[in-house]
Amino acid sequence: MSDCIFCKIANKEIPSNVAYEDSEIICFHDLQPQAPVHLLVIPKKHIESLDGAGAEDAAVLGGLLTKVKAIAAEAGLANGYRLVCNCGEDGMQTVKHLHFHLLGKRKMLWPPG
Ligand code: AMP
Ligand code: ZN
Repeated sequence: MSDCIFCKIANKEIPSNVAYEDSEIICFHDLQPQAPVHLLVIPKKHIESLDGAGAEDAAVLGGLLTKVKAIAAEAGLANGYRLVCNCGEDGMQTVKHLHFHLLGKRKMLWPPG
C-alpha cells in the first residue's frame, strides 16, 4: 500500500522511534502518546483492520500477540498494561493499517471513552 503511513514506517520510508522489530512485526512509539508508555505494534504486512484479517494472517497475528509480553517487559510495564485495537468507524480507527496500542505506566480507566 503505497499511501499507507504505517507501511511507510515498516519500510523505513518515514522515520519512527522503533522499540522492537523482527521480520513480521514492528513496534514504535506513538506520535501522540496517551500514556507515559504508548507503543504501536503492527504487522509489517498491510492488513486494513482486524476485520480485514484472514486465516492466512493467523500465524503473524498470533506471533504478534505472543510477543507483546516481551515488548511490555522491555518497556518496563511490570505492573500491567492495556492492549487496544480500534476497528472501523465506531471503533475510531484513524489509520487503516491494523495496529495494537500498547499503553502503560499509568492506571487505565474503565469504561474507555
Ligand atoms: P487509531 O486511532 O487507533 O487508528 O490510532 C492511530 C494512532 O497512530 C494514533 O494514536 C496516532 O497518534 C498514531 N500515529 C499516526 N501517525 C503516526 C506516526 N507517523 N508515527 C507514530 N504514530 C502515529
Ligand atoms: Zn499499510
